[in-house]
Amino acid sequence: MDRLRFQSFGSGSSGNCYFIGNASCGLLIDAGIGVRNIRKYLRNMGLDFQFIHGVFVTHDHADHIKAVGTMGEKHHVPIYSTRKVHEGIDRSYAVTEKLITSKKFIEKDETLQIGDFKITAFHVSHDATDCVGYTIEYQEKRFTFATDVGYINPEVAQHLEQADYMVLEANYDVKMLAEGQYPYHLKNRITAKTGHLSNIEAAAFLAEKYSDKLQHVFLCHLSRENNSPEIAFETVNNHLAEKKIEIGKDLEVVTLERFSPSKMYIF
Ligand SMILES: [Zn+2]
Ligand SMILES: [Zn+2]
Repeated sequence: MDRLRFQSFGSGSSGNCYFIGNASCGLLIDAGIGVRNIRKYLRNMGLDFQFIHGVFVTHDHADHIKAVGTMGEKHHVPIYSTRKVHEGIDRSYAVTEKLITSKKFIEKDETLQIGDFKITAFHVSHDATDCVGYTIEYQEKRFTFATDVGYINPEVAQHLEQADYMVLEANYDVKMLAEGQYPYHLKNRITAKTGHLSNIEAAAFLAEKYSDKLQHVFLCHLSRENNSPEIAFETVNNHLAEKKIEIGKDLEVVTLERFSPSKMYIF
């Protein structure tokens, strides 16, 4: 059986990019890291840009779109997102080459099939032009990506509750942010319903909604200033432990690194 492969190429405010695929087809969720790094990480897997059948963009913040111009127009990888996200990309200073031939539109809640993958975008609350998460279905398995979510809105909850695997934001520790150096307006921006998800919000959701189906949680978009992998992991671990859910036995939880790629996970 051709199993599902997942690798994070980078996660956080300096750049986000996730690979998901099988032996014959790869997709990227966001391309917010340098194109040279994307090429390098693909090459390490024995792959090239032609293997990537599409980049699915969550929103038009620079840390998610930096490489889409080059990926799309130079390497001919289709760049998928909603019409509004594409309008944001068109206006973005972070994208050097404007998307013309590679621009592909999707609608929220409509499913698109590429190879053996079914991709559905869903609405996410965040302070970008528009913002979506994605669920990728493959061989009865569901992998949901929910990054840059101000809060777990009903659409996000519905997708996460059905997921076997998920990339879920755990951006900040509430105490570290409150006591940290960020100016007041930035703290407010982060904690707003259109900002980022805290460790405790991610942890509480996981503990409350855990089902046997859930295999693997990748905590993403951890803040360098207001979080640490240890604190994010502990917060989730503590909430799960209260419900007698054991990491390592009932499910796996991993924090994704900001700058270096994760190992390749094969499910
Ligand atoms: Zn971001
Ligand atoms: Zn963002």
